[in-house]
Amino acid sequence: MSPKILISACLLGRPVRYDGRGKPLHDPIIDRWKAEDRLIGFCPEQAGGLPTPRPPAEIEGGMNGEDVLAGRARVLEVTGGDVTAEFIAGGRNAVAFAHEQGCRFALLIDGSPSCGSGFVYDGSFSGTRHPGFGVTAALMRQAGIEVFSDRELDRLAARVEDTA
Ligand code: SF4
Repeated sequence: MSPKILISACLLGRPVRYDGRGKPLHDPIIDRWKAEDRLIGFCPEQAGGLPTPRPPAEIEGGMNGEDVLAGRARVLEVTGGDVTAEFIAGGRNAVAFAHEQGCRFALLIDGSPSCGSGFVYDGSFSGTRHPGFGVTAALMRQAGIEVFSDRELDRLAARVEDTA
């Protein structure tokens, strides 16, 4: 059976980002997977109970999603609000949903404190990146779901072909 792929809802163009917008990924591979009904959109931050729009948030202190899960770091809004619990709840919901839908793969937008898998921002809200996973991406990896960033679409396509 064709593998299903959980995808960050904003990559499908859904208006779920903190700024109330989407960030659609335009690529023929995405068009094909949509036609094949393989893509399951999900937004962990909304699923964790956060509103849209919402203040931007980053993982504090140059840490990453694994540090948040281990209790070493919080996720803070630019306005100072602590949204750690919502980010963890949203990530757990994303993993549960991926299992329910039979998704072995996830295609997540990079840089997000939830969905990032190659880099996240360092908590200073200055645009400074560092390598690391967001909270949802870290939980998915722990759960054995293969996570790919939007910059790794070709690599994911090759993996999907291998397992189809
Ligand atoms: S949590 Fe993920 S799906 Fe939701 S807006 Fe942020 S990057 Fe997109």
